[in-house]
Amino acid sequence: MAERCDVIVVGGGFAGVTAARECALRGRRALVLEARDRLGGRTWTADWHGRAIEYGGEWVHWHQPHTFSEITRAGLEVAISRDVQRAGWHVDGELRWGTPAERDAITKRGWDKFVDGVRTALPQPHAPLSAIGELTHFDRITIAERMDELELDEEERWVLAAELESLAHAPLTDAGAVAVLRWHALSGYSLALTQETGGRVTIVGGTGALLRAIAAAAPVEWMLQSPVAAISQRDGGVEVTTHDGRTFGAAVAIVAVPLNTLGAIEFDPPLAEDKQRAVALGQASRGIKLMLEVRGDHTTANVIQRGHEFGYLGTDELVDGSMQQMIGFGLDAARCDAGDLPQVARALHAILPGYELVDATAHDWLDDEYSRGTWAIHRPGWYEHCHAAMNRVDGRILLAGADLANGWAGFIDGAIESGLRAGARAAALSG
Ligand SMILES: Cc1cc2nc3c(=O)[nH]c(=O)nc-3n(C[C@H](O)[C@H](O)[C@H](O)COP(=O)(O)OP(=O)(O)OC[C@H]3O[C@@H](n4cnc5c(N)ncnc54)[C@H](O)[C@@H]3O)c2cc1C
Repeated sequence: MAERCDVIVVGGGFAGVTAARECALRGRRALVLEARDRLGGRTWTADWHGRAIEYGGEWVHWHQPHTFSEITRAGLEVAISRDVQRAGWHVDGELRWGTPAERDAITKRGWDKFVDGVRTALPQPHAPLSAIGELTHFDRITIAERMDELELDEEERWVLAAELESLAHAPLTDAGAVAVLRWHALSGYSLALTQETGGRVTIVGGTGALLRAIAAAAPVEWMLQSPVAAISQRDGGVEVTTHDGRTFGAAVAIVAVPLNTLGAIEFDPPLAEDKQRAVALGQASRGIKLMLEVRGDHTTANVIQRGHEFGYLGTDELVDGSMQQMIGFGLDAARCDAGDLPQVARALHAILPGYELVDATAHDWLDDEYSRGTWAIHRPGWYEHCHAAMNRVDGRILLAGADLANGWAGFIDGAIESGLRAGARAAALSG
């Protein structure tokens, strides 16, 4: 067994990297074991046709306090995305066009009904259990069930469903209604700000620039290509074993892997029963984020269609001539293969006729054994039964990650928030 360190962090996404830095800043010897050959997890800045793209997490906002504080600390800057000129929405087989304000007005009519009651259910968005009695009604139902409670005309229903499918990145019959309420509450109870926080502001240099800055802020030992198979607690410490049989000892372990991958790690003794139930429940996101190069009308456009393979599609960048890069979000990665260009072209024609597909790329986060989903969208029952349990420290193992955050769960901000908390707790426990 290698020399014992103070804290082992399993998983080198934003949560694990932040947690390790916090331990190191407090004088602890921290080792990160990361399964992939890179840090960043569900964020991944890459090159595509000479342009930087983000296969995973991309947008940030100054209303995401932990992220923005790290951006300041790193001396980075942000950029604002282009305005959309044309907005389209499909209603029962018909594509309608208007201004973004016109479509937003339709969205808002349904949205306001959906979130009615949010101020009493989530009075403190960074303390999601602070009014759990009021939240419970929403926590017990899916987004689809919440929509069924509302009186919506046909156009409102089509538009709201398309917007919510892109937010949930999952079938609405599986995703919990609280996901929508939480995002809305964290965005100052405003639909306009909800749209801004989810897709308007990017980091100059990409998410990779911010991750590198956090990772470089304190001395941490990094081991890539080291997937962890088992963690045991014994002799007042922990022993962590990788798939290839290496064993590492420490006083404390922070396990900062995605919720949907936790079940693949063997714990000895097993996790507490309420934690096991939370792991079994998992989270619902299973969508796709697709980058498309297309030729067509050289204006910026955004079009939505419920149930489509990538039913939230918008201009990311006007390239040159008639070429533009678009980003599409779909609710089920299993229904859309970016490598099958004829299939993607057919789907493009269905949602945005008149555009020619040149190329497409995506990473399948659902099929990826180290993520098994995209941004956390909790299923019904999460807040009533799972959230507190997963954040409880049992012995010398702490669970962490965006999927467990109090505030911006499922976002980069939630990952950093959770990493800050886990790092401070682990440093105290290992002191
Ligand atoms: C397509 C997509 C779009 C998104 N868009 C946005 C956005 O615009 N804005 C935003 O804020 N957020 C967005 N998110 C969400 C955001 O990227 C994540 O919530 C956040 O990055 C998760 O950080 P994390 O550290 O908790 O988990 P992860 O980034 O998943 O890190 C966990 C790490 O654990 C590793 N791991 C897993 N199993 C093991 C094991 N057994 N042993 C060792 N290591 C293991 C993984 O390889 C990974 O590196 C998006 C996510 C996706 C996928």
